Formats: sequence, structure tokens, C-alpha cells
Amino acid sequence: MNYHSTRNHLQITDSAQAVLNGLAPDGGLYVPQTLPKLDVQAVLKMDVYAMAAAIIGSFLPDIPNMELLVEKAYRGKFTAPDLTPTVQAGDLTVLELFHGPTSAFKDVALCMLPQLLTAAKTQKGMQEDILILTATSGDTGKAALEGFKDVDGIKICVFYPHGGVSAVQRKQMATQEGKNVTVLAVEGNFDDAQTGVKNIFATVQDGLTQGGCRLSTANSINIGRLAPQVTYYFKAYADLLQRGAIQMGDEVNFCVPTGNFGDILAGYLAKKLGLPVGRLVCASNANNVLTDFIRTGLYDRRRPLHKTISPSMDILVSSNLERLLYLMSEDAPMVAGLMQKLNKEGFYQVPEKLLCQIQAEFWGGCCDDAGAKKTIGKAFRETGYLCDTHTATGWAVAEDYRAQTGDNRPMVVLSTASPYKFPAAVLSALEENGETDEFEKMNRLNVLTGVQIPANLASVRYKKDLHTDVISKEEMLLRVQQL
Ligand SMILES: *Cc1c(COP(=O)(O)O)cnc(C)c1O
Repeated sequence: MNYHSTRNHLQITDSAQAVLNGLAPDGGLYVPQTLPKLDVQAVLKMDVYAMAAAIIGSFLPDIPNMELLVEKAYRGKFTAPDLTPTVQAGDLTVLELFHGPTSAFKDVALCMLPQLLTAAKTQKGMQEDILILTATSGDTGKAALEGFKDVDGIKICVFYPHGGVSAVQRKQMATQEGKNVTVLAVEGNFDDAQTGVKNIFATVQDGLTQGGCRLSTANSINIGRLAPQVTYYFKAYADLLQRGAIQMGDEVNFCVPTGNFGDILAGYLAKKLGLPVGRLVCASNANNVLTDFIRTGLYDRRRPLHKTISPSMDILVSSNLERLLYLMSEDAPMVAGLMQKLNKEGFYQVPEKLLCQIQAEFWGGCCDDAGAKKTIGKAFRETGYLCDTHTATGWAVAEDYRAQTGDNRPMVVLSTASPYKFPAAVLSALEENGETDEFEKMNRLNVLTGVQIPANLASVRYKKDLHTDVISKEEMLLRVQQL
């Protein structure tokens, strides 16, 4: 199956090469020329492994042995046998995506991506090693490290801002095992680390380092990260069917705590494949660019970035939105124009017709830190469900959506992280607490709620730091050239 750039119909490549390239050469994102066809009823009867193989395979038909790759990606790595279980909490259904090796939803995609990259590399006869470079504000780095550790033919180097991630997140990365991993703290903030990575890509000749590695990234613009995320929408629907909460064909709404628009776009793709999805509710924190966009059609990043208690959603430019604009309009020159305007002037306005199409499928809402904390407390008191700060944002917006629209179709809220990944904020939503260590707060939260701490987070505190280097921005390139 062929893919082309969102900015140019003629920039075409097959699905294996699209995974290897990540970004199209013109800076656009890869979209399928025609969406895959799927026997939805048959897929909904499968177990989650077969389901994943069928769905990912339908997007990436040029990558062989998908069943085997799915096995290697997930078997034994998730604490839930069905990978992404659903839980009923009051009149919401929570889709738990955090049972992977790092307790964040990014595991679902980042366990699979290394398998896809390795297979695509073999398929294309690519000889050199791939070097994955990632700048992280916390969650992505650890999930990528776990996904790529000890994968043959691939190395990974993660940069995080020194002093700019939580104590738990730092410990998770500093203790990372694996013979192919490098973890470096960079003096500066997340933007410095990210700019440093971009500079490396711009500087390294032909994408080959002096060490002979081909540079690549693990960020969510890669179609190999998006495709695995489509699976859990089907899985949630199948769960509701099995529980008798819905009949085949009934529409289900999904509310997604959103940053880069990857997760929610996967929901839109699920709908395009034929899953009966009703409304996709896009939940933002105080960085509510997307709420404004969905309500008015004006995308405007000219505003300050707020640091919130849901840091994985602290984003002003949601890259995957470009894919939605293309899929709805099928107008590559228009998309190219909008992206150029965003780049140069910091905003764009979509045509009225496209806005109507977006509003027919999506609803946007937002919730600030105070609202998220209130929701954590209320949800726990009323339903006994303990959610993290990102999930709380989704929960609050899902309730707003119901109250404002009266749409009472079943609502699934995507739960994107374990509450123990953000123990300080979650605990402070439940009780007054002092300036103790984050790990102490984890324990206190456990005592207070009785909710089990995921083993990977409970044990990390006692692991030995293996990566302690702190480097300057200027040293980043040198370190990469040596890998
Ligand atoms: C990355 C992340 C999100 C946002 O997902 P996008 O695909 O970027 O929209 C939400 N919650 C958590 C915990 C995340 O790590």
C-alpha cells in the first residue's frame, strides 16, 4: 500500500519505507493513498493480539509477519493480559492504556515501533544501524528506551532537560538498562534539548553519523507509531459489546486527553475503518489551542506555553492535526499552505467547509489544573476510581460534553498514565501534603487509596543510576557522532 505526503500527492512511498522515513522529505506527514479495508465484525471477535496484527497489518501491508511482530512487541511486557483493559467508573468507561513497561500510554506504540522498524529495515535491505534520537520532557524518553533496548541493529539516544523532569521520570531514565542505550541530561530546558536534536539532524551529512548510523526519530508523526494506537479503540468497543453495554452498530463516544493529536487521530482512523464511533471529544489542559481551533477554525499558537500538572499535554503545535486536515479535505496544496502560514506567522484559519467537517466529528473542551485536581478528588470519592492528571482532564471534559450537548451515548475516557507517574499532583488533589520526596508521596498515595503501585515504578527508586552525564547543548552533536 502506498503513502504520500500530506503536502504533496506526488511524494509517494510504500508503507515499509514510510516507517523508515518517519517524516516525508517535504516536511509533510505520510497518509495512506486509500484507507485500508477491514472486516470490522470479524476483527471485533478477535483477541487483542490478533486484533492488533489485523489492524496494524492493514495499514502496513509491506511489512511481513505482523502476527509475530505483535507477539514480540507485547507478550510478557504488559501487566494486563488483554493489554488495554476497560473499567466501568460511574457512567463512564475508562480505557486503561498504562499497563505497559513504563506505565504510560506511549508504551502501546513504542513497544511496537522497534519491531516495525527492524522488519522494514530487513525488507528494504538496509545495512547500516539506525540511531534513534529523542528529546523528551519525560514520558516519551523512557517509553522509547524500554521499547528499543537491546533491539539488534538499532541504537537509541535520549536527551532530557537537566532538572526539568520529575524525580520519578529522572530515575526511570537514569537507571535504564540495555547495551544500545545512551541517556544524557542537557543543561537547559526541553526546548533547548529539542532544538539541539533538530540541529543534529540538520548538521549530520546525509543522515549518517561519523559512527556510520542512520539517524531517525521515535516521535508520534511516524505512521508506525500511529497504527498500533488504532487497536485499542476496537478493543474498547469489543469490551462494551461483550459486557452487553451496547449492541453491534451502536455508536460510542471517546474522550481523549490530547497533546500532539496522535492518540485522538488514531480514533478517527478507527472510525474511518468502519468502527461505530460517535463523537471524538478532544480534551486539553490550560494549553487550549485545540479547543479554540475546534470551536472557531482558527489555529493560533501565538500564546505563552503554560507549565501544567499534565505535562505530556503541554504543547502549542499539535503535529498530527496536519493528518486530519488532509484526510478531511484531500487537498494537499491547501494543507501545505496552512502549514507554511503556521510556520511563518504562527496561525492559520481553515475554510468554513472544513471547519464544519471537523465539528461534525470532534468536540473540543479544556480543563485547567484546579479543575483536574477537583476531578481527581470527585472521581475517587464518587466512583472509587483513581486517575492521573491527564486522565482527569479527559474525565472533566467528558462530563462537560455530556452536560452541554445532552449526548448520552456511551462514553469511553482514555486513561493515558498511571496515577503513580504523577504522585505529587495526584496526592495533592486528595489531601494537604508537605514537601516530601516524590517516592514518599507514591507510598502515601498507596496507603490512602489502596490502589496498587505498578511494579516498575515501585522498584525504580532502589535501582542504581547508570547514566549520570550532564552535558551542554553544544556537546550534543559530538556525543551523537561518536555513537
Ligand atoms: C503523550 C501523552 C498524551 C497526549 O497524547 P498525544 O498523542 O500527544 O495527543 C496524553 N497523556 C499522556 C500521559 C501522554 O504521555
